[in-house]
Amino acid sequence: MLGAGGLLALAPFEAPAFAMTGDMAGLPWANNAMRWAQVAFTEDDPPSYDPNFWFDLFKKTHVEAVCLSAGGCICFYPSKVPLHYRAKYLGDRDMFGEMVKGARALKMSVIARVDPHAMSEEAFAAHPEWAACTEDGKPRRHWAAADMYVTCQNGGFMFDFMPAVLKEIADTYKPEGFFGNRWAGSGMCYCQTCRTKFRAATSMELPTTNDPQNPQRKAYIQWNADMRWKQFKLWDDTVKASNKDCFFSPNGGMNDPNAVTIPIVAVDRQGRSGATPVWAMGKYAKQVRAYMQNLPVCGLFNVGLEDENRWKDSVQRGPELEAWAHSGIAQGFRPWYCKFNARIFDPRWVAPVTKIFQWHYANDKYMRNTANLARVAMVNSTQSGIFTAGGTAFTAGDGVRAAQRVTDAQNGYYQALVEARIPFEMADDRQLEPQHISRYRVLVLPDIAALSDKQCQQIRDYVMAGGRIVATGETSLYDELGKRRANFGLADLFGCDYVKTDSGVKNSYLTPRHPHMLTKGLEDAPRIIAATQQITVKPHDTAKQPLTLVPSYPDLPMERVYTMTLETDTPMAFCRQVGKGRVVYFPMDLDRTFWEVLAADHMLLLKNAVEWAAEEPSPMTVVGPGLVEIAYWRQKNSLAAHVVNMNNPMMMKGPYREMIPAGPYTVSLALPPGAKIGAVKLLESGAVPKTSRDGNRLVVEVPRIRLHEVVAVELA
Ligand SMILES: [Zn+2]
Repeated sequence: MLGAGGLLALAPFEAPAFAMTGDMAGLPWANNAMRWAQVAFTEDDPPSYDPNFWFDLFKKTHVEAVCLSAGGCICFYPSKVPLHYRAKYLGDRDMFGEMVKGARALKMSVIARVDPHAMSEEAFAAHPEWAACTEDGKPRRHWAAADMYVTCQNGGFMFDFMPAVLKEIADTYKPEGFFGNRWAGSGMCYCQTCRTKFRAATSMELPTTNDPQNPQRKAYIQWNADMRWKQFKLWDDTVKASNKDCFFSPNGGMNDPNAVTIPIVAVDRQGRSGATPVWAMGKYAKQVRAYMQNLPVCGLFNVGLEDENRWKDSVQRGPELEAWAHSGIAQGFRPWYCKFNARIFDPRWVAPVTKIFQWHYANDKYMRNTANLARVAMVNSTQSGIFTAGGTAFTAGDGVRAAQRVTDAQNGYYQALVEARIPFEMADDRQLEPQHISRYRVLVLPDIAALSDKQCQQIRDYVMAGGRIVATGETSLYDELGKRRANFGLADLFGCDYVKTDSGVKNSYLTPRHPHMLTKGLEDAPRIIAATQQITVKPHDTAKQPLTLVPSYPDLPMERVYTMTLETDTPMAFCRQVGKGRVVYFPMDLDRTFWEVLAADHMLLLKNAVEWAAEEPSPMTVVGPGLVEIAYWRQKNSLAAHVVNMNNPMMMKGPYREMIPAGPYTVSLALPPGAKIGAVKLLESGAVPKTSRDGNRLVVEVPRIRLHEVVAVELA
């Protein structure tokens, strides 16, 4: 039976914390826009772009809202705000106004895009104090546009000039909202304004180190966050003063989950670069939705190739565009396409984007999710990330915890859950109250090093009431500001005390013990490889555990590659009943090592740990070949089970060259108690599938998946 026990007595279909309002009735307009477009103008667009191309495309792609460049560093309308630099070839045109008018004629909503990260030479001449400064106090020239200056995020440009710009746009064009690109500054600024304001707030000088454990840096991180809130509030209040339903939505959202005031967030993940798995777009959706709760999140993707070489004027081919957009859509993103430059030099993106959006429109009602039915959530550690600000150092025990380490552990467990076909969400570490997490049966904590005493207590309460956790590595060894504790904050749950951490451990192994669900599938393996960061712990009891250590031994010369210690009793997994719940703790960075090595044995351990902890059938299972990512959603009168075919050699590093269909798949879905099932159809193939009942589950045969199949089930 789903969801037995304590706080978790609610079956997932009844989870009240996620009982969204379906069609979002009563919320601002933006919540009803399912498909979005963005055109970011260039200075030379006004005389030569074709507005009708865009209006035709908006119609064809059924977009309901559009984001258009208005002003900030460069404006595309005849602004009267002094020093608001007009686009070089704007002349006396009003390009922004023309596009707004055309979009209005299509009954679309409009978001005005502003970008305040730079200013003109003229503005600098009048207000040199608006410029950002380097450590030696010199104003910063723009790194790419030689005639411009980088603006200071704490000075007059952001706090006087931009509010005047926002007010002018809001009063003149009445957009429904604003989107701010590069609104939060371009790194540390050492101008007089920043020095003075920081000193006044903290009695300290600005830090000159990136070490987040340096007291000045730590104070700066907090002060900078306060200043961004002040800026956000000022801008949001400014546009609301013109129109009470208007809002300012900063790129990526404002990360206070307990005071979300923006009705919609666009998550700017323009495309893949380097070794980025195709599931990353869905991961961004989960991360942001975790704190946006029942408010919509949009997945902003660029039609071009996006990497550090900045080919901003390029075009991606169809398969990659489809794969990236659909992996986000499956995990709940509303699609948002973005084109830099309003002129169409290379039109190859138009057909694939049109196809994605027409499919989304045709299946609109199945995209209006009211609840995600996952029973597993990965905790997203925002604070372990915060104290990696500046790109370096989260100081940890024996050395430096690079920011990358936090992400790698998370990505490792993410990949394992995708491979395991366990539907899962993410939970925000700032929202661990029962109303946010009690709908989950299992929380996964991938090396969540930084946890406050309060957060540890919330996790403890969750387990005592019947929740289950799977934790790895140095989880809870640090407080919320990265200060190391003498022992794990969760030592009582883990069943062991911290002794020390060894990193870079080579040639060490694990012995799987049987029978235990944790080691299921490893019966034929006398030993498997261990992780490379190992935590020495002192167990609280002598209970036998299903995984033990074979300590590291020489890896050279080859004649020395042997050990006399073939087995030990040193536990490398603690599987425990605690309170009404269960706990699995791995005293090693199994998830991060998995991300590095992708060993199949580790995948089994990471999967089995979650399944042993869950102790209930998964709401959705899929049987069939290869790698698929899944998600299970409810809408007002239907269920939608998504299966994204990731069987592609370009899955881990794009771009996709072609779609490689795979199948057959059998999808088994738990149904809401007492639900009567109406029509079942497949949204990619258009076919009516073979179905059967297995108790309270619906079993659906899916012969073949091209990229993204959705089993849509009407609730009668
Ligand atoms: Zn400054």
